[in-house]
Amino acid sequence: MTVTNHAQNAPVQAYRSAVQPRKLLFVPLLPLHGHSVLRARFDDAIRRDALPGSIMLHGPLGVGKQRLALWLGQRLLCSGPEPRPCGNCQHCRYALAGTHPDLHWYFPRPRPKSGDMTPAKIEDDFREAIGERTQTGVYAPPAPEEGLYISTIRAIIHSAAMAPAMAARKIYILGEAERMVLQEGSEEAAGAFLKLLEEPPAKATIILTTSEPGALIPTIRSRVVAIRVPAMGAADVDAVLAEPAMQAAIAAAGGPKKLEEQRRVANGAPGALVAGAEWAAALARARRILDAASNRDRQEQMRTALAQGSSKARGAYSTALEALTTLLHERARAAAERGNRRGARGAAMAVDEVERAKERAAKLVNPQLITSQLMRSLERLIA
Ligand SMILES: [Zn+2]
Repeated sequence: MTVTNHAQNAPVQAYRSAVQPRKLLFVPLLPLHGHSVLRARFDDAIRRDALPGSIMLHGPLGVGKQRLALWLGQRLLCSGPEPRPCGNCQHCRYALAGTHPDLHWYFPRPRPKSGDMTPAKIEDDFREAIGERTQTGVYAPPAPEEGLYISTIRAIIHSAAMAPAMAARKIYILGEAERMVLQEGSEEAAGAFLKLLEEPPAKATIILTTSEPGALIPTIRSRVVAIRVPAMGAADVDAVLAEPAMQAAIAAAGGPKKLEEQRRVANGAPGALVAGAEWAAALARARRILDAASNRDRQEQMRTALAQGSSKARGAYSTALEALTTLLHERARAAAERGNRRGARGAAMAVDEVERAKERAAKLVNPQLITSQLMRSLERLIA
């Protein structure tokens, strides 16, 4: 369903000259550390021409899913020598600068003020937003009210129908895809997007990323190949923490100053350290759940469960459960260091309970109910 755009060269020339002056001054995307197993797997699939057209990368918040998706895009576009991506060809340089016209990167943005925005306006908005993200290469998760609204989905559909601008193919990355708002748009746009996922044009690859795969609507989940991005190993986390831009962002977000503490909070997903206010709020919420459970204080447990609110703020609740996992890992580690094997085992089993709670949250069970039952289970394991 690719439509050839006969007038494509003039805009591309204009585009190139617009990005030319700043493209070689710096390499703004943070280097990708870790995920070597997945990278090798992707590389192998590309060589065999077996990479699925629609992929969903899911894994912990801050583990680098969007950065990995950008790497995959660069790998697909690179025309330089092996091993690819070479990092030096024109495609690689544009991709690393966040300015490749065939590497499209979308993520949650504020709701458009005046109803719908035209595809051209949306592209302008993202060019600016990507420019902000690539200033340091480190960015915090979007604010809770930001989403992938229907104007953005329309812009993607519009763009996917056109031939690539300068490469042999085009890549669409949709970060934090669980924030996609299809319901309130026209059914036509939603249908067109689902069709795009199901049968991407021959020269297009669509990559969704999410830390809450369960929050994606089933009609989307069933159309993508899910690939789990695991937590990073200690050496890779250290490599990320050694990036000056990363340390500056952690400081700006009011994160921990000591490396030891940073490693602990990162828990294999260093991006979580720059999550700022949202993550701090989630940690506070998780601590309250943990305290109420370990103190066996039934009244406080009830108050804590009620404070989880209704089903509306689902994203924030999932983040709180994520924070709970982080705290329990900390406990398990601390207990193991003290030689307290029973405590370490209890905390590890508590992590499994939280995983079950996450699954239930994904199935839209009421957060208050999940929390109250979760605290009862935790009480047995960690009190
Ligand atoms: Zn290259």
